[in-house]
Amino acid sequence: MEQVFEFADQLGPTKIIHVYEPSVNLKAILVVDNVAMGPSIGGLRMAEDVSTEECFRLARSMTLKNSAAGLRHGGGKSVMFGDPKMPKEEKEQLIRAMACALVDINEYIFGPDMGTDEECMAWVHDEIHRAVGLPRELGGIPLDELGATAWGMSHATDVALKYCDLELNGARVVVQGFGSVGMHAARFLKDKGAVLIAAADSQGTIVDEQGLDVDALIAHKQSGKSLNDFAAGDKRDRDAVIDVECDIWIPAARPDVINNDSVDRLNTKLIVQGANIPITLEAEEHLYKKGVLYIPDFIANAGGVICAAMEYENASERVAFDTIAEKVSFNTEQVLAAAKKEQITPRNAAINLAVARVEKAMTTRRWSIF
Ligand code: NAD
Repeated sequence: MEQVFEFADQLGPTKIIHVYEPSVNLKAILVVDNVAMGPSIGGLRMAEDVSTEECFRLARSMTLKNSAAGLRHGGGKSVMFGDPKMPKEEKEQLIRAMACALVDINEYIFGPDMGTDEECMAWVHDEIHRAVGLPRELGGIPLDELGATAWGMSHATDVALKYCDLELNGARVVVQGFGSVGMHAARFLKDKGAVLIAAADSQGTIVDEQGLDVDALIAHKQSGKSLNDFAAGDKRDRDAVIDVECDIWIPAARPDVINNDSVDRLNTKLIVQGANIPITLEAEEHLYKKGVLYIPDFIANAGGVICAAMEYENASERVAFDTIAEKVSFNTEQVLAAAKKEQITPRNAAINLAVARVEKAMTTRRWSIF
């Protein structure tokens, strides 16, 4: 019995639901963390090694991200055991079964995450009409194609410049991970005058101190090739991207890539966290003490979920992008100003901001967290 409550604290989770349907081999978990601010939004992750703990941690980070972004949504997440590359008919059956199993859980809105995409959300929508990240034909806003998360990051960067005495014009940028987040971040920053001097994907790093051609690199990557095969630039191994001296370093790949072993290899002034938890807490503390400024993940990369929440309200792409710019700029300023004034890390400032908003919302509710 106690184990069920091992994650419980003052914010949640309000519900952990075990979903099981042997006829289609469905095994899944839903964690609804805190819905004081409104029905939770969070992705459905499909992988073979998911766990209740992972699901809870992701749900909690959605509570903080949605609250920090000032959305009328709480945090939740669902995970489903299985190989995301399984035959499409099997995957469709599993996802439809998952949606039907949760038809009555109104406080959870499905979104895409690792292993699921807009087509999966269309299946959920078809069953229970409670999904975001839908295809355009169903009223969706294709946030990865448009670069919604990176659009927010470029505005977060603008705000951070004055806190680290940097100008964007001519700033040397390095991007780790050249997918939906990384390539659009490079594009938006290049449009504001910055120069991309290195980028990495899972196959390797490419470096050109004179500046890489961002549009050509994106076209190359979108044609299905690796950065390693690009005609220009020096080719290095994948993790060499950490060692390239620069002004702005952007993690947009995997969690924990900067840790106790790698943190001192970084040589940069500003880190804009596109990936979720790209830096361990200890390494973040170390960077703070060294005077390297960072914008925490759930402040910098909130553009995707803001876009999803705007889609849920039936907003247009233009309104969604204006809202991302406004919210991410405002929150970055709040966090960096509080960190400076109170002499605390940007992460602690961001957590304080997000938790204060959730706790305020909880005081207005009869049952606090749900
Ligand atoms: P993606 O799959 O489109 O791109 C990931 C990129 O990282 C690929 O280019 C891949 O080759 C590269 N990569 C993988 N492992 C790497 C490694 N060890 N070193 C260097 N590069 C590596 O994914 P995405 O949607 O761009 O998401 C990237 C990160 O941002 C993830 O952590 C994701 O959780 C987070 N995130 C994404 C969004 C979004 O809107 N897509 C929003 C918030 C956070």
